[in-house]
Amino acid sequence: MDNDKRAGDDFAYTDERFADIQMLRYKADGFERLDARQKALAYCLSEAALWGRDILFDQNCRHNLKVRKVLEAVLPLTSHDGGGTHRDALVTYVKSVWFANGIHHHYSCNKFEPGFPEQYLAGLYAAVPDAALPLDEGQTREGLWQEVRRAIFDPAFLTKRVYLSDGADLVASSACNYYGDGVTQHEAEQHYAAQKAAFGDHAPMVGLNSTLVKRDGRLVEDVWRIGGKYGKAIGHIVEWLDRARQYAETDGQRRTIELLIAFYTTGDLRTFDDYSIAWLGDTAPTVDFINGFIETYGDPLGYKASWEALVDYKDTAATARTEAISGNAQWFEDHSPVDPQFRKPQVKGVSAKVIDAAILGGDLYPATAIGINLPNSNWIRAVHGSKSVTIGNITHAYNRAAAGSGLLDEFVIDAAELARIKAYGDATDELHTDLHECLGHGSGRLMPGTDPDALKAYGATIEEARADLFGLYFIADPKLLELGLLDSPEAYKAHYYTYMMNGLMTQLARIAPGAQIEESHMRNRQLIARWALHHGSAAHVVELVRRDGKTYVKVNDYDALRALFAQLLAEVQRIKSTGDLDAARQLVETYGVRIDPALHEEVRQRYARLGIAPYKGFINPRYEAVRAEDGTITDVRVTYGESYTDQMLRYSRDYSAL
Ligand code: ZN
Repeated sequence: MDNDKRAGDDFAYTDERFADIQMLRYKADGFERLDARQKALAYCLSEAALWGRDILFDQNCRHNLKVRKVLEAVLPLTSHDGGGTHRDALVTYVKSVWFANGIHHHYSCNKFEPGFPEQYLAGLYAAVPDAALPLDEGQTREGLWQEVRRAIFDPAFLTKRVYLSDGADLVASSACNYYGDGVTQHEAEQHYAAQKAAFGDHAPMVGLNSTLVKRDGRLVEDVWRIGGKYGKAIGHIVEWLDRARQYAETDGQRRTIELLIAFYTTGDLRTFDDYSIAWLGDTAPTVDFINGFIETYGDPLGYKASWEALVDYKDTAATARTEAISGNAQWFEDHSPVDPQFRKPQVKGVSAKVIDAAILGGDLYPATAIGINLPNSNWIRAVHGSKSVTIGNITHAYNRAAAGSGLLDEFVIDAAELARIKAYGDATDELHTDLHECLGHGSGRLMPGTDPDALKAYGATIEEARADLFGLYFIADPKLLELGLLDSPEAYKAHYYTYMMNGLMTQLARIAPGAQIEESHMRNRQLIARWALHHGSAAHVVELVRRDGKTYVKVNDYDALRALFAQLLAEVQRIKSTGDLDAARQLVETYGVRIDPALHEEVRQRYARLGIAPYKGFINPRYEAVRAEDGTITDVRVTYGESYTDQMLRYSRDYSAL
């Protein structure tokens, strides 16, 4: 049944499954209502968004591009080999590599296990002509095979993309490709501490756009820019940004695009700061974009940013909701339950809007975020503020997939909680994302002299906890009723329940047996939920109870739960404001990392019985430009019919520069 399919429109929500993934489609709702100039702008930015895909593959692991290209070369041969289980396993493996932009799982960071034998791939490889293989100059067929074979089949080689366990050399133990051979964690940290100190106040995000390598015993930055590393791909990105410039909606937006081109040309991080400041001030245009080296989750040390891109346009109706929140930013800041010295006396430049995605690229494709708050530079956030977006059409596609999956019926304790979640779950979930992105990340301040990176590997988890707790605290505030954002004082309980259920139980479905939690957002959710469970245990605020052999979350006192969230928010803000690394480590390691193996197994079994894929990703729409004789883009057509495999093969064919 598909109510969203309309006549004369090839859009349909798909349901392609492989491994632990469900592929969804999202619809570029309202794209057709953009004017010709806006469509042309979105089109050029979309091309720029697709040209960076290879950069991310290489950033994630140095062998990824070779592996992908070899797999794509053998794939056409498999249809003639009689099929069978090896072929099925190979196809699943290829789809997984496309999805993760490499040979490591996008979320757990563990290397994929190929479900087919080495001899099967070796046989196919032998049948590929030289011309179809990604042979480097001077590289033999055998040399390429050995490289690819080891990357795919040796489980002890490059086991984990991002390794975060306390005590190890994080650079040496991570498979990501941000540091050259022989560079140690200690050397990298010293190197960037010195660079940052040399910049003084308003230091750019040092190390953000380079590979740190050792040459003749000295550390050298291999900068990602035109003429430098990844220069070929960046050249194509810049070519399309240059075309986009002509269709910019405002002079400010044109200037922003020019600054980004300048940054890609020189690699100068101060230009990136100039760009970021210009970008966050661009709130007037309908069409907006992200394109660049943005998030640092892929680097265990948190310096290096993976390449990502998004093109989007405003959803005007839903934006009214987030404007109501950001319009009251100072009220929320003043009423936050943290020590007043850690509050911002003046909250600046919190802008927020609901957007619809037109295209996802790089580290936002095919798995994507539903809310984004940028830039990440702490000093820019302090002085100039930030820009927040919630991606409406992606959220819609997620909610549609979740409804009817049976998850809530399985895990929610009783009919009363279930009814409340069905009534208010979607609305409060959206509002929590708004509060997290529009206000949470922008709230609070560092004490003078506190190093913004003082929390090191725990910084990302603490920051996400801070934003989540800000949202949890205020979603229960009568202020939201007063602003007309919720219509029942009971609504917040729906979100509290699902948040605790997810943090304590259901998110464990994404973790492999025997593993711990590594990813920052997941650590944050478990940290908050476990901490509240533990600190509320004497008063029975929240409990895990057993019924009919199954474990359920039972919330006995929602008011008290809110008070616990307030208490933890105050502590997390103190940790951030004062750079208390020991307290951050203690909190994260005690509550955010370890898993109860019995509960983990139970959750996995209950999930398996429901047949729910733990991860979702998205197929992009396809855009075609209609051009006048002089080459000017006069219209852009959107189609949705492309399959996941066709899309990936097309991107590899048409947007491969490295
Ligand atoms: Zn966040």
